[in-house]
Amino acid sequence: MTALMVRMLTSPSVPMPMQTPDLEDEVSLARYPFLPQAVPWIAQLASANGIDLDVLLDGGALELSRRRGRMRLIDTVDSDEGVEAAAMGDIHTENGRVLEAFSYYYARLVICASEDERLISRWAQAEAARAERLLAVDLDNLPVVAETYISQIRLKENGLWQIGLKDFIEICPSISGARWRLPNCDVKDGWVTLHEERTYSSSSKLARLLRERIKRTIQSGAIVKMADINTDLAMRLAEPVGMVVGLVAARQSDAIEISSAGKEDWPPCMRGVIGQLADAVNVNHYGRVFLGAISRTVGLPRENCVDFFRAAPDFSESVTTYQVGHLYDHEYTPSGCSKLKLNHNCPVLKGDDSLCDQIWMDHPLKYVRAKQRRRKQQAVNEEVVESNSAPDD
Ligand code: SF4
Repeated sequence: MTALMVRMLTSPSVPMPMQTPDLEDEVSLARYPFLPQAVPWIAQLASANGIDLDVLLDGGALELSRRRGRMRLIDTVDSDEGVEAAAMGDIHTENGRVLEAFSYYYARLVICASEDERLISRWAQAEAARAERLLAVDLDNLPVVAETYISQIRLKENGLWQIGLKDFIEICPSISGARWRLPNCDVKDGWVTLHEERTYSSSSKLARLLRERIKRTIQSGAIVKMADINTDLAMRLAEPVGMVVGLVAARQSDAIEISSAGKEDWPPCMRGVIGQLADAVNVNHYGRVFLGAISRTVGLPRENCVDFFRAAPDFSESVTTYQVGHLYDHEYTPSGCSKLKLNHNCPVLKGDDSLCDQIWMDHPLKYVRAKQRRRKQQAVNEEVVESNSAPDD
């Protein structure tokens, strides 16, 4: 599916330009970090500022980039408008440009680590929607971005944009609305004129068309990058991935990755609290909050979470429903291992569970991700063994 999707997304039938126009203005590159022209610039920025993967994931210097990256991801799930257009820092300064550029890279890394193509598509859509809003009013950069993604595009002297028929036909099926249907368009000599409407300028229409191409290139790039996510990276990114997945799970019932974690993926600390409650043990406050938060993150309906508490000595249907509802509504993220250990909510001792013994294990969501990856790998191995042992025709 993935390989097929990549082929589809990078299909040579898409009439993309053969050459990428030059764009060296750093403010523009920071504003549109998904552009192909931004790749060498960001590499140079990383080398000049000593930024490597470790710094991007954990370095204090990029804390703000990670925060803005998480905001990009929250907007992906939460906002119909896409990612917030305004930068968090001043991109007319070097620090502001670093912040903005690496926030995009961090968000992309987290999305790739989710290994979920629907989430990747949603993120690409949110970033492309942001680009559309900016480009509709950024008349300085609109031409160069248009020439980056559209093979035939020109601006007439009367201020109207014209797009080649081949590009238009390829892009428009994915846009709804009568104005985008060919019989309703002004087509002449292989060009489609994007006329001004009272509330829809020619530039805004071009920005709308660009959104489709930008989305597809961001999406195909992320799907290719997904192959670079190894187990170590997946574990290091488990917490932000869990944050996004938890958000999605809270907004829709169809589950993805972590939110589809089955019982067999639950960490011992989660099982431990559930078991204690079932045995009518009075679990402490931290354990209860943790159970509510992790239940939400793994996609359990809130009623199921309330059920965990039924045998508790102080159970009250209305109070527990209210408290669980509060945890779900405010999207609490589960505590890490150190806090759980400190509050006596980690039941394992050395040797009890090999995953919990790993030096990188510092969060129960990492446990969930590791279990999922192991299961996936096991399924692949079994498939290989089966196909190798199948008799030849
Ligand atoms: S080590 Fe962490 S993941 Fe494992 S049981 Fe303890 S708290 Fe949970």
